[in-house]
Amino acid sequence: MKINVSNIPAEGLKLHFSKDAKWFVDLWPSDDRMNFAFHDAGLSFSLKKIGETVFIEGKVVTTVELECCRCLERTTKILHGDFKYTFEPSRSHDNEEIELSVEDLEISYYDNDLIDLDQIAFEQIALQIPMKALCSESCKGLCPQCGMNLNLSSCQCRSDFVDDRLAVLKDFKVKE
Ligand SMILES: [Zn+2]
Ligand SMILES: [Zn+2]
Repeated sequence: MKINVSNIPAEGLKLHFSKDAKWFVDLWPSDDRMNFAFHDAGLSFSLKKIGETVFIEGKVVTTVELECCRCLERTTKILHGDFKYTFEPSRSHDNEEIELSVEDLEISYYDNDLIDLDQIAFEQIALQIPMKALCSESCKGLCPQCGMNLNLSSCQCRSDFVDDRLAVLKDFKVKE
């Protein structure tokens, strides 16, 4: 959905949307394979306008189904994210001598008085999707020798996989 900046009232605007799987798949670039299934999303936007500058704050809650990186079983995750954008009209950007500062990098630009909320929502959902997901923190993964899913049963292989698992856990904590 595109919002016309001139339609944002002085007191601001609050919007809520629910999106389904088809909405997301349509926005996802077709040359980028999806290794997850998008179920649904709830999106909230709060828009405020000061002069020509538009401030957007929002929340996204989404459900995706993806593969556990240890045991390769499908797992469903609910993901939450908050976001903030500052938009300015692109013409004020074009006319100025551009001196990049940290502040500039955080500003987005709109054309023809239009801000595409779908695009913002899509970006935010894409950011929430983890590169590596776990079905559970304690997932035992697959036996590196026989491939058995060790959450379901144990195997007779004698290996040093325990040490590998601890290393993975340590990495995971650092990233969190
Ligand atoms: Zn798992
Ligand atoms: Zn095994």
